[in-house]
Amino acid sequence: MEVKVLAPAKINLTLDVTGKRSDGYHSIATIMQAVNLYDTVTLSDNDSGIITISCNYDGVPCDDRNICAKAAYRFFDYCKTEVKGVHIDIDKKIPVQAGLAGGSSDGAAVILGLNKLFNTMLKPAEMFSIAEKIGADVPFCLQGGTKYCTGIGTDIKKVPSFNCEGIVICKPDTVSVSTAEAYKKVDALNPHACYTDEMIKALYSRDMFLISATLFNDFELALKIPEVNEIKSIMLKSKARGAGMSGSGSAVFAIFTSQRRAQKCYDKLKETYNDVFLCKPVKDGCKIS
Ligand code: ATP
Repeated sequence: MEVKVLAPAKINLTLDVTGKRSDGYHSIATIMQAVNLYDTVTLSDNDSGIITISCNYDGVPCDDRNICAKAAYRFFDYCKTEVKGVHIDIDKKIPVQAGLAGGSSDGAAVILGLNKLFNTMLKPAEMFSIAEKIGADVPFCLQGGTKYCTGIGTDIKKVPSFNCEGIVICKPDTVSVSTAEAYKKVDALNPHACYTDEMIKALYSRDMFLISATLFNDFELALKIPEVNEIKSIMLKSKARGAGMSGSGSAVFAIFTSQRRAQKCYDKLKETYNDVFLCKPVKDGCKIS
C-alpha cells in the first residue's frame, strides 16, 4: 500500500529568542504560520524490515540522518512494534536550510503517514508526543495554521488565523545558515521587548497594517545578511505590506493584500533568484493527499 502526505512549509511572523536554558536549548516565543508550499512524502510498505529513503534533492541525506528515518524509528518505538519495511520518498519543493522547517515537516508527515499506512489509529495527542521527540518544529508541522509557540517551540497555543492575499517567499541562492552559528550571534544581542506578545494583539485586532508592522525576527537582527536586506528591499518596493526573514534564515517572506502585487513581486524576484514561491497561508498542517 502507498500513502502520500503533503508537508507544508512554515514562516515565522515573529521570532523572539527569550533566553538560554540550562539544558543548552534556547527558549523562544514565536508565531508560526503554515503556507501552501509543500514537500510530498510518499510512504510504501514492503517486506524488507528496513527503512529506506529517496529524495529528489542532492543536499538531503538519504540514510538514518534524515529526519524522516528518525521519525519512523520513533513511531515504531512508540507503537512498541519491530521496525517494518517502509520506503519513504521525499519530493522536495521546500528549500533546504532556509528556516522554512522543510525537514521538520517531512518528519511530521512520516508520523501521520505511518499511522495511516499501518492503521495504528494513534490519536493527535499521541502523534504530537512522538513529534516532540524528533525536533522543536515537528509538532507545529503536524498542526499547522497560525500558532503561538513557546518553550523550545513545542508549547503550542491557538491564536486567530492569519490571512492575506499572497505571501512571496525567496531564498538567496548562495546563503545557507547554520542554526548553531545563528544562535551564537543572537546570544550577543541586547534584551528587548517581546514582539510576539504584540503580534498576538495584532492578530486579535485582525488589523493588517498592525500585523505587517509587527513582523520581527531576532535572527534577522543578529545575522544582518546583506542578501536578506536586498530581497526585503525588492519586496517592499513591490508594495509588500511587510517583509522579514523566516526562522534562522535565510529565506525571506513578504505579505501582500493584493494578489496582483504579489504576482508582480514574484516575477521581479524570479529575474534574479531561483528559489521564489508565491503562496498563501493555510489553516492546517501535514495532510494525507
Ligand atoms: P528549521 O526552520 O526547522 O530550522 P530549516 O529549513 O532551517 O529548518 P531543513 O531544511 O529542515 O532546515 O534542514 C536542515 C538540515 O537537515 C539539512 O541541511 C539536511 O542535511 C538535514 N535533513 C535531514 N532530513 C531532512 C529532510 N527530510 N529534508 C531536509 N533536510 C533534512
